[in-house]
Amino acid sequence: MNALLIDGKWRDASDAGTRTIRCPADGSEVGVVPEATAQDAVDAVRAARRAFDQGPWPGTPAPERAALLRRVADRLVAEKDEVARLESLDTGKRFVESQIDVDDIEGVFRHFADLAAADAGRVVDTGMPDVSSRVVHEPVGVCSLITPWNYPLLQTSWKVAPALAAGNTFVLKPSELTPHTAIWLCRVLAEEGLPDGVANLILGAGAVVGPTLTEHEDVDLVSFTGGVVTGRTIMAAAAPTVKRIALELGGKNPNVVFADADIPAAIDNALTAVFLDSGQVCSAGARLVVEESIHDRVVDELVARAEQIRLGGPFDDDAETGPLISEQHRAKVAGYVADALEDGAVLRCGGGAPDGEEYDAGWYFAPTVLDHCTREMRCVREESFGPVLTVETFSGADADAAEDAAVAIANDTIYGLAGAVWSENAGRAERVAQRLRHGTVWINDYHPYVPGAEWGGFKQSGIGRELGHAGLEEYRETKHIWHNTRPAPAGWFADRANATDAEREQG
Ligand code: NAD
Repeated sequence: MNALLIDGKWRDASDAGTRTIRCPADGSEVGVVPEATAQDAVDAVRAARRAFDQGPWPGTPAPERAALLRRVADRLVAEKDEVARLESLDTGKRFVESQIDVDDIEGVFRHFADLAAADAGRVVDTGMPDVSSRVVHEPVGVCSLITPWNYPLLQTSWKVAPALAAGNTFVLKPSELTPHTAIWLCRVLAEEGLPDGVANLILGAGAVVGPTLTEHEDVDLVSFTGGVVTGRTIMAAAAPTVKRIALELGGKNPNVVFADADIPAAIDNALTAVFLDSGQVCSAGARLVVEESIHDRVVDELVARAEQIRLGGPFDDDAETGPLISEQHRAKVAGYVADALEDGAVLRCGGGAPDGEEYDAGWYFAPTVLDHCTREMRCVREESFGPVLTVETFSGADADAAEDAAVAIANDTIYGLAGAVWSENAGRAERVAQRLRHGTVWINDYHPYVPGAEWGGFKQSGIGRELGHAGLEEYRETKHIWHNTRPAPAGWFADRANATDAEREQG
């Protein structure tokens, strides 16, 4: 299948390599797609460069760019179920969740269409009658947009929509595991009139095509969402040519529950926080930090409910969550659990593949609760990215000491993506929220976000307040234009070249 898009043409990989995509829920074949070579990636970067340097897109009036983004949003509405089906087959996630994702994606395209249309720049008063001074926005250039597999089209839309809104060209590389909605998007962009070479699509392994996309001198910006290890590699790759970069990396997100919380609400949300999409969510609340005095009540109830969670494939109406993305990922999650048990954690439920032959063909992992965890454990420090909840406790001699203890645990991580605090004491909730070194903090809630609010990590969770969630700033350069309408000599240096002999003698 011709599924690489380079300079407006759909083609196969230059060495005819392919990859078979299988549904993680049952191993069934979803499709066979080209596996790009490094040369294909070079071709895509060059096409994006040509389209930027020569093409009409960077100079296309902002309202026209906005109109195109709105047409994409309309197509998402019209083809919602088909897009959701593609996403569910690639990821194994429930169809209803993919439908919700498509609604979010539509909102992202409309949000950035509005921002593109509102693009104005500003005039700076020089105080001089013959001089005008203005600040204008220009696109950055060629963008490499590299996305993960957990929310494939949503992550992609957070990059593609602002990149296009600001007038850039791009090479998109979705995760090699989940290519189909990226193919859909690039096809729709072409059908809706995006000029050739503005959107280019490269499918394939990061290790093969990634270096070109992150090192090539024709790339101006790299926006990456994925794991912290890959993020470090990309940051180093982009350094020699000083590219703009944005990194949305992992998280190890604390969910802090005080004894004065609304406990039923906290428990119910703690389940969603960690087990939604089987924990394959960057902001997953995988680290429960609970006040010692309510530990037993909270954890007993969590375990009882976690054991009842129904697993199943995308189109199983009874399923509440789905499989992990791959066999390799399941082995990684199992490794974290095994390490934690060796280090003294207590397994309260789950811990491996669920019982039942209906799960044999997929990469399922039972919802898992590890009690009596400590900050030193690898499972607490690193992102397992699976349905694994670690439980730590805190206590203090008085209320202030308890807050200090909770904050110290919750901030003891290299990450800083998200977290939550549960307390019916509004003052305490606000105090703790302010002290948590995480980019998003929910009070008495977990997971909701709105386009237009910011999303981004502190510490090693990322760089740049998410390219894509809030404004267009990261996708455009800001230029100051000074226009003197009465040019005159600056007068700093004497004009000796044009001076008469007499003037030169005078000095
Ligand atoms: P990953 O880092 O393995 O891969 C992400 C993307 O990078 C893929 O497209 C991959 O092919 C590509 N890649 C791999 N090596 C590369 C290289 N050397 N150069 C360029 N590209 C390369 O991550 P993943 O397993 O696909 O996704 C899971 C991770 O994503 C988790 O750590 C999760 O926390 C993170 N994530 C973060 C956010 C956020 O908003 N902060 C959102 C979603 C996922």
